[in-house]
Parts: sequence; structure tokens; C-alpha cells
Amino acid sequence: MDKRIQVQLSAEQIAARVRELGADITRDYAGQELVLVGVLKGSFIFMADLARAIELPDLRVEFLGVQSYGDETSSSGVVQITFDLTKPIDGKHVLIVEDIVDTGLTMDYLLDQMRTRHPASVKLCSLLHKPSRMKKPCAIDYLGFTIPDLFVIGYGLDYAQKYRNLPYIGVLTE
Ligand code: 5GP
Repeated sequence: MDKRIQVQLSAEQIAARVRELGADITRDYAGQELVLVGVLKGSFIFMADLARAIELPDLRVEFLGVQSYGDETSSSGVVQITFDLTKPIDGKHVLIVEDIVDTGLTMDYLLDQMRTRHPASVKLCSLLHKPSRMKKPCAIDYLGFTIPDLFVIGYGLDYAQKYRNLPYIGVLTE
């Protein structure tokens, strides 16, 4: 374990919560076709674990690449889609899978974008939420953990493109 990283959420805590989220989603979408839309890059590990915790026969997986302009640790709300869905989502139930909702600016933009494509429904599943920094409130239908205003890394989340491979979520202490 890297001594410069303070663990906030262990791999075990994350796995247990992801199982619960998967069970909730399985129950709520029973009998329906669901499209999971993972927001790259941060959600790639959460997406892989969550998809395996959802027991629905008609589950599709898609990814969206977004670039959010801002400095290294916060977004400005100016968002560009750099990689789009491979199939249309009109008439489909869509669940956006995000790593973290911080100011809410990215999600506000993405939810609006998805709604213009006429899906049957659009909901949001985020592993983490920092409510103290919220600028654009958006409903998080499935939430893993609420965290304090700290810049977290690991389990898909980066600092300058590093640390995504940590199996836990932590904070850099230096
Ligand atoms: P928002 O638009 O809600 O402010 O920012 C959302 C995006 O900013 C997240 O998808 C993530 O890429 C990045 N972000 C926000 N907070 C953190 C954090 O604590 N750690 C990391 N690694 N990225 C963050």
C-alpha cells in the first residue's frame, strides 16, 4: 500500500455497496431492457463491477467519452462528447453510470444531452457524490457513497491520469 495515500473507502466496502446497487437496479428494472451508459474514463471499473452485479437478461452496455474543461481538479461545466454511443437509445431505458458527481455541471449537461435522444427514461447511478460542492443539483437515483470535499483517486478515478488502478478509493496526502 502506498504510504502517501489515505484510504477513504476500502475495496471491501466498495464491493459490498456495488452489490447492493446491483440488487436495487435488478429489482427496479425487472422485465425491462436496460442500457447502462458508462461515462469514460472514470467509470470504467465501477461499470465493470456494477454490470456484473445486475442480474437482468436484457442488459446492454455503452460508453460515452466526455471531456470537461477546467483545471486538473475541478470542471468548468463546458463539456464535449469525445466518444459517442454506438447505438441509438430512443425508446430505451437508460441508466448513466458515473464515477463522481461533484459540482453537477457535467451531469446536468449529459442528462440534457441524453434526453434530446428520446429515451423511454434516463436515470443516474453515481458511485460518489460531494454534496458540498454542488452547483447544479441533479437527482442521483442510485448513489454509492456521499463523501466530504476531498479530491479522491482510485477505483477508476485519476490524478493526472494516474492511480486509476488502485482497488480502493483514497486521498493523496502529499
Ligand atoms: P462535476 O462536473 O460534477 O464537477 O465533475 C464531474 C467530474 O469531475 C467527474 O466525472 C470526475 O471526472 C471529476 N472529479 C470531480 N471530483 C473528483 C475527485 O474528487 N477526484 C477525481 N479523480 N475526479 C473528480
